[in-house]
Amino acid sequence: MQLTDTHAHVQMRQFDRDREAVLARAAAAGVARMICPGVDAATSQLAIDLAAAHPATIFPCAGVHPHDTTAFDDATLGEIRRLATEHQVVAIGEIGLDYFRNRAPAEDQKRAFGAQVALAQELGLPIVVHNREAHADIMAALRPLGTVRGVWHCFVGDRAMAEEGLSLGMYLSFAGPVTYPANTTRAEVAAWAPLDRILIETDCPYLTPHPNRRDRNEPANVAKTAARIAELRGMTMAELATATNANAAALFDLPPLDDSAPRKGAS
Ligand SMILES: [Zn+2]
Ligand SMILES: [Zn+2]
Repeated sequence: MQLTDTHAHVQMRQFDRDREAVLARAAAAGVARMICPGVDAATSQLAIDLAAAHPATIFPCAGVHPHDTTAFDDATLGEIRRLATEHQVVAIGEIGLDYFRNRAPAEDQKRAFGAQVALAQELGLPIVVHNREAHADIMAALRPLGTVRGVWHCFVGDRAMAEEGLSLGMYLSFAGPVTYPANTTRAEVAAWAPLDRILIETDCPYLTPHPNRRDRNEPANVAKTAARIAELRGMTMAELATATNANAAALFDLPPLDDSAPRKGAS
């Protein structure tokens, strides 16, 4: 069985010491592909470089995370545009609004989000959206577009919020928090969401699934999130893997992943 981790920051410094071992564990766990979002121009470039070293396994995105949008200006946007046009990136991301940590002023966050959404539309790329306590403002920015090709990453909202995202045509991606025993709302949404619109991710190095929440997260752990969602939905993990691989391929325009083919090196 193969899996797609649709949100893995494997280019980040937290993996500098043992990145190849982390990627080897991912492969051993069946993680055939990873989408690697940037959080600023530098980490977008690192994602592009890492993808060049691991073609067909790592697919990079370029974007500025809401935390890093202080003083976001035309030069910043120009840098993301250059990365996205000169290299094969699969999305603009991660972008969004974060009113929980508020590391950048809300006005800077909104300006950066709007400009990067417009860039994605201009380039015909999907968006990877980060939302913390900013659902209304994100919907206000996206609703006028009618249809949005994108994913609501690490979706932690309720069913009403999920329905709003789905109504735009977006995908919902579930991460480690869906495995936290106390969280019934997330579990309900993961059990209910349409099978053709869900994705799985780690958001590593953050959001390690239960029961190792204090540890650094890594792509191999996406199997734990997949197992939990399959259990919640009453389906086999193989069925969930097939569906979420196909959804990731559709959203990010990846080459099809043949689930029936034996993996290279598998006996
Ligand atoms: Zn995020
Ligand atoms: Zn992230």
